[in-house]
Amino acid sequence: AKEKGKNNYQLFNSEMKSVSLKRLTLESELRRALANNELLLHYQPQINIATGRIVGFEALVRWQHPERGLVAPGEFIPFAEDSGLIVPIGEWALKEACRQNKQWQDAGLEVVPVSVNLSIRQFMQHQLCARIGRTLRETGLAPGLLELEITESCTMDVDYASDLLHELKKLGVKISIDDFGTGYSSLSYLKKFPIDKLKIDRSFVRDIMTDPNDAAIVASIIAMTRHLNMEVIAEGVETEEQLRFLHDNQCHLIQGFYLSPPLAVPDAECLMKLYSAQ
Ligand code: C2E
Ligand code: CA
Ligand code: CA
Ligand code: CA
Repeated sequence: AKEKGKNNYQLFNSEMKSVSLKRLTLESELRRALANNELLLHYQPQINIATGRIVGFEALVRWQHPERGLVAPGEFIPFAEDSGLIVPIGEWALKEACRQNKQWQDAGLEVVPVSVNLSIRQFMQHQLCARIGRTLRETGLAPGLLELEITESCTMDVDYASDLLHELKKLGVKISIDDFGTGYSSLSYLKKFPIDKLKIDRSFVRDIMTDPNDAAIVASIIAMTRHLNMEVIAEGVETEEQLRFLHDNQCHLIQGFYLSPPLAVPDAECLMKLYSAQ
């Protein structure tokens, strides 16, 4: 038994080593990615199905890795969150999305907000509001054309979140709650904070046609936003049936593969031209 314990220990130890080695490699690779401009943004359209118009784009980071090809954020964002690299990555994404949206406007394309994901690390960062104000001035984007997506975890420290969100609101940017319904925060913050929009998490939308509980949750979130005078958008819509359910329940803003996946810049531009030609 003693031998076995020792072997297990050694196995565990070498696994730990390889995990931390992997982390170290990923960390230096990610630093290089930032320095060498290997990160890029894809843009997923958000569509109002009642009017048929594009109402916004969500900016989603990708990593054009020299050997591995295009890497999805699920492969490196969680690690970037742990290591703190999410702060410079997020600042880059914010600036790039603002720059791109301003360029689209200048080119006569859609004048709609771009949504940028803010990690809790960024949310807790010193002088976030001043930094965002500076980015808007540097890129020339109107504050109303930037939407910040925060998660419920950002609302845990109620006083801090309330002050910051009111400050951001004064700056003129829009605020939405991402992955709504998956966090553990209290609903009472919804009426205290200046929130423009709730994004219904994909996990609820996925099963609305088969799980009556999910259908009830989604219908309740939609009704609640109406009473609170907020906008609501459903994420992860993949089928015609889901779209119909949402439409019947008065949720008109849709984001999901059924309408479009996140698009590289040239494809997003094509889509805008198609829509504006209608
Ligand atoms: P998220 O903010 O919830 O973004 C939506 C994710 O759902 C995107 O995955 C998008 O491609 C995916 N999606 C959209 N429609 C559908 C659908 O119909 N079906 C399915 N199955 N998926 C759909 P993506 O681009 O892989 O991003 C994953 C997550 O990475 C994001 O989830 C967000 O949490 C994080 N992320 C991406 N970019 C950034 C960033 O710039 N900053 C931060 N902090 N996080 C980011
Ligand atoms: Ca998001
Ligand atoms: Ca989401
Ligand atoms: Ca998410």
